[in-house]
Amino acid sequence: MGQIIDGKAIAAQVRETLMARTAALKDSGKSCSLDAVIVGANQSGRVYAENQARMCAEVGIDYRLHEYPAEVTQQELESVIDGLNSDESVTAIMVHLPMPEGVDTESIHARINANKDVEGVNPANIGNVLYGRRSLVPCTALATMTLIESTGIELPGKTVVCVGASNIVGKPVAVLLMRAEATVISTNIHTPDVAARCREADVIVSAAGVPGLVTADMIRPGAVVIDVGITRVKNPKTGRSRTVGDVDFNSVQPVAGWITPVPGGVGPVTVAMLLRNTVDAAEAAG
Ligand code: NAD
Repeated sequence: MGQIIDGKAIAAQVRETLMARTAALKDSGKSCSLDAVIVGANQSGRVYAENQARMCAEVGIDYRLHEYPAEVTQQELESVIDGLNSDESVTAIMVHLPMPEGVDTESIHARINANKDVEGVNPANIGNVLYGRRSLVPCTALATMTLIESTGIELPGKTVVCVGASNIVGKPVAVLLMRAEATVISTNIHTPDVAARCREADVIVSAAGVPGLVTADMIRPGAVVIDVGITRVKNPKTGRSRTVGDVDFNSVQPVAGWITPVPGGVGPVTVAMLLRNTVDAAEAAG
């Protein structure tokens, strides 16, 4: 029976180490803050931002939310980012998604000063990862690596299959795994017979956003299974919604060696990595 990788516990350990680092920053007269931009927020966006503020407070990060209506123009948003970039008291910037239609999210991301880009969404940051230079790395990719490393698996010589190859998750994960000298197979919606590739894998990272995609017959016995997927599904009988991953947990757990649950796996560690990037950025700002 596969061992559950407890994302909540790992996230709590990370937050613990951050408390000491933010205290040291404050002792030396430096601030540690996160400036978050939210545009046209709906109820769930606001709840997410409130949770973020609470997590920041817990580890000693000052959180400032910059809220704008959905009608804001691209140009106005760009000048908001420019203002944060040039403000020396701002060391970490993030932008809540989704942005309203009409806003070019990629160009907003690319505009964030790479040293303050704690979500690692500026292309310069992922480029630096490729070259092995110091960089702020996308948080979900960092979380995935942290969860894999928590199992103690030695990646050189191992085969990892990434299911999904988006710019924000699948590709950065694949790059970090290559840097760890794993043999990486990146798959996408057009890949024939993803199941056969998965059966070769010592580690499977699924980030497709397709509930039930990864099933027991795709798992090599003892493999590490990291489920990045987050999808809200409604039970037609009760009308209640719940969050599910890409992996059919109940059938896969008996075959896998290690497995992350959804919720309680990649999600909480991703938040912890955002906080860690924020502290890294404050320290590097000097
Ligand atoms: P995306 O839609 O941008 O990309 C999905 C990728 O999966 C694409 O490369 C697509 O080709 C591939 N794909 C789709 N169906 C496939 C199939 N049957 N076989 C192989 N590949 C397939 O999605 P995204 O933004 O990368 O997010 C993926 C999932 O991860 C979503 O459920 C999202 O909610 C979740 N997510 C979780 C976190 C977290 O912190 N846990 C963070 C970001 C995204």
